[in-house]
Amino acid sequence: MQVGAVMELLRPLLADITVDGLSLVGEATAEDLGLTEDEAVVLGPLAVSLELTNVEGLVAVTGVLEGTVVRECVRCLKEYEDPLAFSVRAAFVPEPKSVPRHPKRVDSRTTNTKLVEAEQVEEPDDQYQYQGNQLELAPMLREHIILSAPMRPLCSDDCLGLCPRCKKNLNEGPCQCSEEPPIPTVRVIQVTNRKAGGSSAS
Ligand SMILES: [Zn+2]
Ligand SMILES: [Zn+2]
Repeated sequence: MQVGAVMELLRPLLADITVDGLSLVGEATAEDLGLTEDEAVVLGPLAVSLELTNVEGLVAVTGVLEGTVVRECVRCLKEYEDPLAFSVRAAFVPEPKSVPRHPKRVDSRTTNTKLVEAEQVEEPDDQYQYQGNQLELAPMLREHIILSAPMRPLCSDDCLGLCPRCKKNLNEGPCQCSEEPPIPTVRVIQVTNRKAGGSSAS
């Protein structure tokens, strides 16, 4: 993938987002998104497909992110490939500094109540800010990937885990523990009389 193409995909210009919207389709690597290995181990590039619409400076982003992330199963501790496919929803608003003036001068009291109402009614879309005439989509996509990680990743819903005794991965087959009777904890040790044993040898 060319650097320029990734830039276009992850840093669209506001001017390109027309009333009809802007479709962004391409691939981005974990590095492009600023994802570290601690956050997510991504296998290969991520497929990004986004639709952007601009309504008076408020840019709504919807789309799909697909790829493969390597996770460690909490039961068997084995790494497994987890296919990702989730929808992306975010809104970008201009950073306050970049707005020179409030568009309408209204009585502050009415504005405040309106804002409060708006906050309560508004869908809790992830909101981001953009500076100037360009959007930075990478941090938003990065967060989506981090948040998509399950609390308890499992290689499979019916992962058998490890044997608590011999630590064998039971997905690979049963261990000896289940077949054999439990090892007796008290072993009878025969103590032979050394003197007697020594004398009988001759
Ligand atoms: Zn597992
Ligand atoms: Zn075992």
